[in-house]
Amino acid sequence: MYAEPFDYVAAGSWGEAVDLLRQGGDDAKVIAGGQSLIPMMTLRLAMPPFLVDVNGADRSRIEHQGDRIVISAVTRHSDLERSPVLASDCPMLPEAASLVGNIRVRHRGTIGGSLAHADPSAELPCAAVALGAEIITLGPGGERRIAAHDFFDSYFTTALQPGEVVTAVEVPAIGERTGWSFLELLRRTSDFAVVAVAAVITVDGEGRCVEAKVAGAGVGERPVDFIQAAEALIGERVDESSTREVGRRATLTADPPAAVHASGAYRRAMLEVFVRRAVLQAGGRARERVA
Ligand code: FAD
Repeated sequence: MYAEPFDYVAAGSWGEAVDLLRQGGDDAKVIAGGQSLIPMMTLRLAMPPFLVDVNGADRSRIEHQGDRIVISAVTRHSDLERSPVLASDCPMLPEAASLVGNIRVRHRGTIGGSLAHADPSAELPCAAVALGAEIITLGPGGERRIAAHDFFDSYFTTALQPGEVVTAVEVPAIGERTGWSFLELLRRTSDFAVVAVAAVITVDGEGRCVEAKVAGAGVGERPVDFIQAAEALIGERVDESSTREVGRRATLTADPPAAVHASGAYRRAMLEVFVRRAVLQAGGRARERVA
């Protein structure tokens, strides 16, 4: 099917994008990589009369800023995968990005688009929550910084206000004695995850956990922050028994939806398994990074 006719204009800066969205009115929409929006338009699930292209508002950009890494919103998934900055200082993001769709999708899709689209099964929103990322936005009211934990409201719904755009994402550089993991259960390579889990674990000099962050995708109406479940690890060695407890607690927090490829009960069972595996892997990597 073809999309409904629409007007199209390309913005040369984020400020211009905000102005153009205001001119376009309530139904104007941003287009970035088009990997989610175009399929929705051709299926007539979305019929925006006016598109503001933000690909010229910035370039694909991943840079250090102190102990944080700034990623422009139009950075492609494939650039996350190949970035030397992320490989050394935030390796979970390349791992998560490499699991998004297929190579064609990763060459076009952007991190800003993935976060703004807010698919609850998507990899990058889940990684952003576990990493404690901040999402930088610009709108008629100026710039805002929103913690990823607060950004995702529900299915395909975020804290973005009308006329607001995502301009960048900031993630903390990974510290010493910190390990990470991003694992997912797939029916077929390049599918959306049935369940995905992101974990970031920091241990002390004796290998005991001092900080644990765990998030899940495909197990709720938004990426789920398992902050309380992860507290079970604090002060513990990251081993089979402590990680089993985190997995058990995560299943008490999540309310996985039933969908055509997996029942809610199956997702819940797989969540427990994948939390345990991801936390074990992150804990092992953290111990290897002890100086
Ligand atoms: P677009 O499609 O251009 O936009 C998506 C939405 O975000 C729109 O509502 C748009 O208005 C809004 N938006 C975009 N940029 C901004 C911005 N800067 N500020 C405010 N709003 C903005 N995704 C996964 O996570 N995992 C997968 O396994 C996966 N598999 C896929 C397989 C296929 C075959 C396809 C076609 C897509 C798949 N995707 C998958 C989706 C893909 O990751 C998209 O790239 C991503 O969801 C959206 O990024 P985009 O840049 O293409 O955004």
